[in-house]
Parts: sequence; structure tokens; C-alpha cells
Amino acid sequence: MRSFTYERARTPADAAASVARTSGAKFLAGGTNILDLMKLEIETPTHLVDVQDLKLDRIEATGEGGLRIGAFVSNTRLAADERVRRDYGVLTRAIVAGASGQLRNKATTAGNLLQRTRCPYFYDTNQPCNKRKPGSGCAAIGGYARQLAVIGGSDQCIATYPGDMAVAMRVLDATIETVDAAGQTRTIPIADFHRLPGSTPTIDHALAPGELITAVTLPRPIGGTHIYQKVRDRASYAFALVSVAAVIRTDGSGRVAFGGVAPKPWRIEAAEAAMPRGAKAVADAVFAGAKPTSDNGFKVKLAMRTLAAVIAEGKNA
Ligand code: SF4
Repeated sequence: MRSFTYERARTPADAAASVARTSGAKFLAGGTNILDLMKLEIETPTHLVDVQDLKLDRIEATGEGGLRIGAFVSNTRLAADERVRRDYGVLTRAIVAGASGQLRNKATTAGNLLQRTRCPYFYDTNQPCNKRKPGSGCAAIGGYARQLAVIGGSDQCIATYPGDMAVAMRVLDATIETVDAAGQTRTIPIADFHRLPGSTPTIDHALAPGELITAVTLPRPIGGTHIYQKVRDRASYAFALVSVAAVIRTDGSGRVAFGGVAPKPWRIEAAEAAMPRGAKAVADAVFAGAKPTSDNGFKVKLAMRTLAAVIAEGKNA
């Protein structure tokens, strides 16, 4: 690990300003991803701005009947919150499907959204990787790509977004609140937060340099049966090959987003009208244009079969 300087921020705007004015600075919250990346010298920040004392750790009811989740609420607290378990069950189920108990105790809401891909070549600094080193190439294209994206990738990068929580937030239409170095706030719909790689795979999300996440807001509850089904190579502590976050009504209609298949939580709202006709009709629309590799073509069928099980469970609940 390389040396770096460290400060504890006193306000969200101060934190944003410090990161914006210091070349190579990064925020530090739970540290469950960035510290690993620093040890491997994949992330090499010159300065860390610790945001854990900013008191952004409350879960509050909103005037619109939803919930506002502070950026640094731990994954454990969020999953266990009585209101989340009752009204947003897909979120609780997604969070507890990820990582381990110890990691969820430290990981934060904002950090979970910002976690970086687990593409094996991203972590191997002997391999070319456009996301880690722009213009170096992509070892995954033509390499071992079992875990990687079947849709939404580019000729520069086919990495997947690895998280579970954000897939559930996508199906719940969450919005992300931020503050920038000038103290200006803005709200980003989660659909627009994570970005596809295109020709700039180093950029994972819509935040400007120094822009700090302060909260995530959930709209009022939508009812239905909430299900998160994660399919992976081992039963725990593994990233999704395919995951399905869904809210299902008894007639089979509802909402669905997929994880493990694309560089961002993958939801095609127009395809949801097909849910009463069954999983194949939905999957045909969601995965139209998919470009799997020889290693991961199974994901399209796996996603369809997982959705079929989820719809059946939701209709029978
Ligand atoms: Fe890097 Fe993306 Fe290629 Fe993986 S898929 S090696 S993260 S450029």
C-alpha cells in the first residue's frame, strides 16, 4: 500500500470540497472495498477524507410516505429496520444475500452503491484492463468471462456491477441525494446512477469529482410480494451469477430487475407489462440484444428460469 494523508470531515460540504480540491483524494466510509483495492494498488488515493462522523446515519419517514436512508447507515441496520422489513422486503432480502455479517456491519448504504466490479482481471494488475488503466485493453474479452456481463457491455469492458442492494433499490425506484463542493444538492434517480462502460469504462457512476452521497430515498411502499433470488456458485459469500429482485402481485404482474448480468442493475420497465404472460416473454424483452461470450451464455436462460420461479412464488404467496 502506498502512503496517503488522512482527515476526518466535519460536514458533508466540507468533505466534498476537500475531495474536489485535492488531486487524487477519495472518500472513506466503511472501507470494505476501497481498503482492499488500496492494498492491491488498484486504488492509489493521495488523501482519504473520512466521512464516518458526518451523522448521516438515520432512517427517517418522508412526508411523501417513503423512507430516507442516511448515506452511512450500515447494511446490517438497513436490512434489520422494521419499516424496511415490512414495506420494502426486497431490499432486506437483497442486503442479507450479500457479503458476510461482519462486512455488512461495516459496509454503508453509499459505499454499497459505489462498490467496484469483481471482474478477476480488474484485480490482477498483470493483466490489461481498461477500467483500471484506460487504453490498456480488456483481458476479459476473449478471456475467462463466466461471471461477466451478457448485456450492456462494450468493446472496452464487459464487467458486471457486483452488488445486490442496488438491484433491489432499482426495482423500488430509489433516488440518490448528493452534495457537491459548492454545497449544492441534487437528486439522481437510481436508473441514471450507474453507467454503462461505453468508451469510458473507468467511470462507474454519475457522481462528479468530489460529489458526496448523503442519502437514498425510497418512494412510498407499493405492496405486492417482495422477493430477491440470487443464484451463485456457492451458497454464501459469493457474487451473483444472476439475481432477480421482484415485486409480484397475485395476478403475476409487477416489477423486476436483474443483477449479475450487466454493468448496472438491469431493469427494462417496458418488459414488465409481459409479466402476467410469464418469464419467457419478459426475458425475451429484457435480454433482446444480449451479447454473451462462450463462457456465460447460460446466464440468459438462468435469468429466465429464476424469474419463472420468482413469479410462481409471488403468485402463490
Ligand atoms: Fe477490465 Fe472491464 Fe475488461 Fe474486466 S471487463 S478486464 S473490468 S475492462
